[in-house]
Amino acid sequence: MASPPDVAIIGGGIIGLTSAYFLAKAGASVAVYDRGDLGREASWAGAGIIPPGNPDRAATPIDKLRGIGSVRFPELSAELRDLTGIDNGYRKCGGIEFLAPEDAGVPDVWRAEAIAFERLTRADAKKREPIGDVEGEPYLLPGCAQVRNPWHLRALVAACEIAGVRFQPNTGAEGWYFDAGRVSGLRLTNGARVTANRYLLAAGAWSESLLRPLDHTPHVHPVRGQIALLRGHSSSRVLMLGKRYIVPRGDGLTLIGSTEEPEAGFEKRTTIEGVNELLTFARSTVPVLSDAALETSWAGLRPGSPDGLPFIGKVPGWDDVFVAAGHFRAGVQLSIGTALAITELLAGNPTCVNLQAFALDRAPQVNAKSAFRS
Ligand SMILES: Cc1cc2nc3c(=O)[nH]c(=O)nc-3n(C[C@H](O)[C@H](O)[C@H](O)COP(=O)(O)OP(=O)(O)OC[C@H]3O[C@@H](n4cnc5c(N)ncnc54)[C@H](O)[C@@H]3O)c2cc1C
Repeated sequence: MASPPDVAIIGGGIIGLTSAYFLAKAGASVAVYDRGDLGREASWAGAGIIPPGNPDRAATPIDKLRGIGSVRFPELSAELRDLTGIDNGYRKCGGIEFLAPEDAGVPDVWRAEAIAFERLTRADAKKREPIGDVEGEPYLLPGCAQVRNPWHLRALVAACEIAGVRFQPNTGAEGWYFDAGRVSGLRLTNGARVTANRYLLAAGAWSESLLRPLDHTPHVHPVRGQIALLRGHSSSRVLMLGKRYIVPRGDGLTLIGSTEEPEAGFEKRTTIEGVNELLTFARSTVPVLSDAALETSWAGLRPGSPDGLPFIGKVPGWDDVFVAAGHFRAGVQLSIGTALAITELLAGNPTCVNLQAFALDRAPQVNAKSAFRS
C-alpha cells in the first residue's frame, strides 16, 4: 500500500493542480483526489484571460495575487513546455478594455501599478480592431494575455506526474474523520480512508459541503457562466466590456463570454437565452462575426464567494486543514499566486501576500474590487 501523502488535495482543478505542482517541487509528497476527471470543471470552461498586473506595486492583496499571475505565467508556461512538451497556448495578445462611467477610477489604479495602457479615441480603436459602435471608453492594454485552459491543465497534470504527484480521479471526498478534535482522515466515495499530514480543500464551487462539517459556512456557491465558440474573422486582441468579453484564439476560433447566473445553482448547461445573449453581444461588438460559424457552446460553474474574493489559508479551528477556493471569475490569473502562497504557508514561511484578506472567517469585504473583472 502507498504511504500516506504529506498533502492530500481535494479537487483537481487549476487551483488544486497548480498547488500540487508547486508543493511537489518543494519536496512534499502529494496526492490529488477528484470526484470526476481532472481539470474538467470551471478551470476547463474558463476563457483564460490573464490581465496585466504588477505585484510590486499592487495596492490590494487581490491585485497582488493577480500581479503574481501576470508576471509569472510566461515563466511557468515555458517551464511546463520544457518539462512536458505541452504548449499551453500562453501569449501576450494585448487587449482593449472599454470602461463605463462608473469605472472612471480604474485607470488611476493601473497607473499606480505601473501597468502599461493607452487611452484610445473611438476612431483609434476602430482602426486597430474591427469593432462596431461599442459603448465605453477604450483603453489599450498591451500586457493583456491569454492561455488555452484545456492545454494548460493537460500540461499541469503531466508536470505533476513527472514531479511525483499521485492522482486519484473519479474518487470524491465525501467527509472527514475526526479524532480528539482533529481531522484524522478523509472519507472517499469508494469507501477508502485517506490519512495525510495536511489536507488542502480546493474543490471549487463544491467546497462548501466539506467546510460545513468543519463549522464554516462561508457561502462558496456556483455561479454559472456560458461561453460560445465561433469560427471566423475576429479581432486580434481580447476585447473586454464589463462582464462580457471576446477572446480571439489566433487560429480562427473566437471565444465569446460570458453570462453570470448564480440562480442556475449547480445546473451546468447552456441555454438558448444565454447563448443568444452572447451572440448578440458578439455581433454588435465585432460586426464581422455575423458571418462566423457557431462551433459549440458550454457552461462552467465558477466558485463564487460573498465578496468575490477567494478563501486562501488555514481553516480556523483545525490544525493541518487548509482551503483554496472561491476564486470566482479569476481562478486562472490567481492560480499561481494562490499555489505559491499555499506552498509557503505549508512550509511555515512568510507568504507572498497577506492572507488575512482571504481568511475563511473574514467579514465579507464591502466594495471589494479588483482592477479587472474578467
Ligand atoms: C465561463 C467562465 C469563464 C471564465 N473566465 C476566466 C478568465 O478568463 N480568467 C480567469 O482567471 N478565470 C476565469 N474563470 C474563472 C476560473 O475558471 C475559476 O475561478 C477557476 O477555474 C476555479 O478553479 P478551481 O480549481 O477552484 O475550480 P474547478 O476548476 O471547478 O475545480 C474544482 C475541482 O474539484 C472537484 N471536486 C468537487 N467536489 C469534489 C469532492 N467532493 N471531492 C473531490 N473532488 C471534488 C471537481 O470535480 C473539480 O475538478 C472563468 C470561469 C468560467 C466558468
